[in-house]
Amino acid sequence: MSEPRIEENASYKKESGCVLCTGLTGTSISGLFDTRFGIDGTFEVRRCVRCGMEQLSPIPAPAELKNLYEHYYNFCGERGTVYTSLREWFFSSFFYRAWIRLDGDISFHSRTGSGRLLDIGCNEGRTLKNYARNGFRAEGTELNETAAAAARAAGFTVFTGALDDFAPAVPYDVAVLSNVLEHSLDPKAMLRSARRLLKADGELWISCPNSQSWLRPVFGRWWIHWHVPFHITHYSEDTLRNLLEESGFRRIEIRQITPALWAASSIVARFFARKGRPTRQLRNPFLIFPLVLLCRALLFPVFYWGNRTDRGDCLVAIATNTDA
Ligand SMILES: [Zn+2]
Repeated sequence: MSEPRIEENASYKKESGCVLCTGLTGTSISGLFDTRFGIDGTFEVRRCVRCGMEQLSPIPAPAELKNLYEHYYNFCGERGTVYTSLREWFFSSFFYRAWIRLDGDISFHSRTGSGRLLDIGCNEGRTLKNYARNGFRAEGTELNETAAAAARAAGFTVFTGALDDFAPAVPYDVAVLSNVLEHSLDPKAMLRSARRLLKADGELWISCPNSQSWLRPVFGRWWIHWHVPFHITHYSEDTLRNLLEESGFRRIEIRQITPALWAASSIVARFFARKGRPTRQLRNPFLIFPLVLLCRALLFPVFYWGNRTDRGDCLVAIATNTDA
């Protein structure tokens, strides 16, 4: 089988240098396509020979990326469906709190406290409710105006606009980047901004997929976290730690989790994703919920092994801003 060609498209730039260190990159995996929304195009992921960071190629230009988010992310017209209603109910329920104790907490929903918390990329504010319930004075930032409006309607303060332009009167105790950093075209700048918004000794809570996950070789091109063209960078525990240290964070603790939902999503993508077609099965609660439970029940020894050998599906890090 011949290798699919990277399509030449004016709104994508074929990046040859590493987005972090400008080092040379070589192909890690090619022939990737969008397994979620059915967006056109063939992509690859390249690895920097200098710092080991992996990144998407070609990378969408900022205007194209904005366009893609507005069309495919957050609302895309999906409100009040069975899936969104069940999700809304589940995240505020006792079952969810019990579930994350068992399955792992990738979004910091079980951490309690009382300080000011900023959720960077807060979407429609679903997670802000969890942070507020846990005692934090939670606020958010969100680029998508429609999503931000929904979060404001739920009573939260949300800043829309570039993170660099956000200048709060009082710095935050906690900044959260829950599955956000890998979406950034400039992760260094994002972490610099996060540090600027934190008080001295403030904490950054960060989670993202683990590029060393055991599910990656198992599912190959169908691994759910390639998520082209939205996931720009892919982190291992080492590359994430290095980036956090370079950005001025200290006392970095990284844990690994393998959420059953993520494993189930890779399985669904493997069986149902077709190039150029949205994978509706990923949003079918009658398929996803039983599969999640099945994964949890049958695969827990593998999940445990993966998490203990640095091959979990998700990296969960806490880092401290030590600057006074
Ligand atoms: Zn590099």
